Amino acid sequence: MRIVLFGPPGAGKGTQAQRIAAAYGIPHISTGDMLRQAVAAGSPLGLQVQEILERGHLVPDELIGEVIADRISQPDAAGGFLLDGFPRTVPQVAILERALGAKQLDRVVMLVVPDAVVEARILGRAQASAGVEGGAARADDRIETIRERLRVYKQQTEPVAEVYRQKGLLAEVDGTGTIDEVFGLVIGILGGARG
Ligand code: ADP
Repeated sequence: MRIVLFGPPGAGKGTQAQRIAAAYGIPHISTGDMLRQAVAAGSPLGLQVQEILERGHLVPDELIGEVIADRISQPDAAGGFLLDGFPRTVPQVAILERALGAKQLDRVVMLVVPDAVVEARILGRAQASAGVEGGAARADDRIETIRERLRVYKQQTEPVAEVYRQKGLLAEVDGTGTIDEVFGLVIGILGGARG
């Protein structure tokens, strides 16, 4: 099964992604995690993207496209994968199609969470981590950065939903429930997808 999961920051995407990937026995491929690991390792990619991540901006499409094309060509992704955080712009949809070649996506799941809920959740996370000694757990969890990431999501990532809606691949899931409730809704949708 080849799945794309997306939704605003604070939608609980990472948690759901891990559970979905485990349920279907496919790798969870998070571009955010891959980029943060590159930054932590101080690799050439990490040095290139560190400042962009800290500002809450998106890394260039071509750069992240290379990262994802390389990752989905690995043997563990041959039988399927769950993409978390990619595609995040309309041009990235075409980059993914090129990388997939003859292969097709099965479903694109969008977690839908109202703005007010998203803001409350992620600002709560930022305030909690700011209270911990040593500052924010994630450099991009600062309040200004979160607001910027939300703005970038609306401007650059929401249009991706429309592209997949037109392709007949989009499934919208209410992301406001508990982790178990949201997971149940997602499994309800994916259960009917091609294996
Ligand atoms: P979120 O917490 O919003 O789900 P992620 O962990 O997916 O965020 O990504 C963190 C950061 O990594 C983004 O703010 C962005 O700078 C960068 N990033 C991740 N995926 C992409 C992508 N597909 N295109 C461009 N930048 C990306």
